[in-house]
Amino acid sequence: MRETWTQRFAESPDVLKSKRRQHTVVKVLDFEIGGDEFITMAGPCSVETEFQLMATANRVRRGGARILRGGAFKPRSSPYSFQGLGIDGLRMLACARNESGLAVVTEVISEDDVSLVAEYADILQIGARNMENYSLLEAAALSGRPVLLKRGMAATIADLLRSAQCILDNGNPNVILCERGIRTFETAMRNTFDVAAIALLKQISHLPVIADPSHAAGHRDLVPALARIAVAAGADGLLVEVHPNPDKAWSDGEQSLDFAGFDEMMDGIEPYLALRGYRYSQCETACSKAIEAVG
Ligand code: PEP
Ligand code: MN
Repeated sequence: MRETWTQRFAESPDVLKSKRRQHTVVKVLDFEIGGDEFITMAGPCSVETEFQLMATANRVRRGGARILRGGAFKPRSSPYSFQGLGIDGLRMLACARNESGLAVVTEVISEDDVSLVAEYADILQIGARNMENYSLLEAAALSGRPVLLKRGMAATIADLLRSAQCILDNGNPNVILCERGIRTFETAMRNTFDVAAIALLKQISHLPVIADPSHAAGHRDLVPALARIAVAAGADGLLVEVHPNPDKAWSDGEQSLDFAGFDEMMDGIEPYLALRGYRYSQCETACSKAIEAVG
């Protein structure tokens, strides 16, 4: 007989849907992730300057984002690449948060920094390179902040769910899963966007699922299409890299959208959101525009 999903992912029982738990909604400021609003998290790969961050925060907020992303601690593939501004970057994020009203998600790469980052961030991001760093997962869980858990680049869905289980086991129910592409034999894109993972995670897990089309694609011209696909696959939101001048970005410029590109991406997902019956931030006019667009 065919194995059920519950049997297959038996090592992560609390992450799976059950009679008791069908849907986890993560509350952040005055909104919810995994609820009845599609949530866009947008901002630069790395926090660089006050101007860069503030300009981006204001623009993405106007475009419908709810959360500002930006790395202050950067886990780079090369030890010679820019490693982030650290505490100065966190301070800039806090300023941008106060000015824009956006919530902040930022990465924590060491358990020693968890309490510091948790002072500034509304959501702690665990990056792909740290998905199986269990002492970091435990510390992040114990901070009490919601945790955005990115899938490791060579992690199976079972591995991702085990890491999520570890956070739940440490008493933190507010876990948000993130598909950001995985390494395969294909090298044209930075990663291979595993869209089936989004569909499967939404089917088997009660946790919200966010898609990161930027790291999946590695090329900004592919990001809007992957964003639309993510919505169609059932994602609860997006994590997307946006920079005022991507060609001058200190990290991940090739995959970052400029402001006009961000607006276009947001326009492009509207009809797909409408098909899913979403209410979204700029609702009234945007909704009717979207319904018209899909006939
Ligand atoms: C990031 O979000 O900038 C990042 C480093 O992502 P990942 O951990 O998915 O590579
Ligand atoms: Mn990045």
